Amino acid sequence: MDFLDIHTHKSAQRKGVASIQSLSLTSDIFLAMPKTKPISIGLHPWYASLEKLDIQLKYLSVLAKQPNVRLIGECGLDKLKGENLENQTIILETQVALAEQLNKPLILHCVKAFAELIELKERLQVKVPMIIHGFNKNEALGKQLIAKGFLLSFGTSILKENSGASKLLESCDDFFLETDDAGTPIEEIYEMAANLKKCSVDELKALIFANWKNLNLI
Ligand SMILES: [Zn+2]
Repeated sequence: MDFLDIHTHKSAQRKGVASIQSLSLTSDIFLAMPKTKPISIGLHPWYASLEKLDIQLKYLSVLAKQPNVRLIGECGLDKLKGENLENQTIILETQVALAEQLNKPLILHCVKAFAELIELKERLQVKVPMIIHGFNKNEALGKQLIAKGFLLSFGTSILKENSGASKLLESCDDFFLETDDAGTPIEEIYEMAANLKKCSVDELKALIFANWKNLNLI
C-alpha cells in the first residue's frame, strides 16, 4: 500500500507514494494541467484577487471537472497575506460553491481566521468534506474544528515534540498527512505519526487510505 501525501507543491512522483500536487490557478493559469495524475486546483489566498476572480473562476470551473482533480484548493483565508478578509471570503465562497456543485472535497489554507472559517461553513451549510491542511495550532482549536466537522491534515508540525498537532494525532483517527512545501519526505512524517499512534506504518497507511476512500464516497 502506498503512502498518501494529500498536499504537496512538488510535481515529482515517486514510487510507493500517492501524492496530490496542489496547483494555484492564480500562478499556474497558463500551464498545461496534468491530465492523469491526481491534483488539487484552486485559487490560493496569497495570490488570488477579486479583480481577476471572474476570469480565473472561469478556468477553474472548467478544469476542476477533470476526473484527476480530486480536491478543490488550496483555497482559504489568511489574515497575514493576500487581499483583505472581505475579498478573500468572496473568493473562497465561490470555490466552496464550485466544490459543492462538483461534489469534490475542499483543501483549505487557514491562518488566524479559524472563527471566520467555522462561521462560513455553518452559514453556507457546506456538505462536501473540508480538510484544513497543515494544521499546526493547539489541541483545543483542533478539537473544536473536528467537532465542527472539519478534517485535519498534518505535516512537519507533528515532528515537534508535544505540538498540538502531535497530541491531536494520538486521539483522532480521521486525519491525513502531507509534506506541503517541506523537504521532509512523507515516509518520515508517517513514521512519526505511527510512533505517536503506537501502530505500525502499514496500519497507518491502511487507516489513511480508508479515510481517503471515505472522503471520495461522500
Ligand atoms: Zn500548500
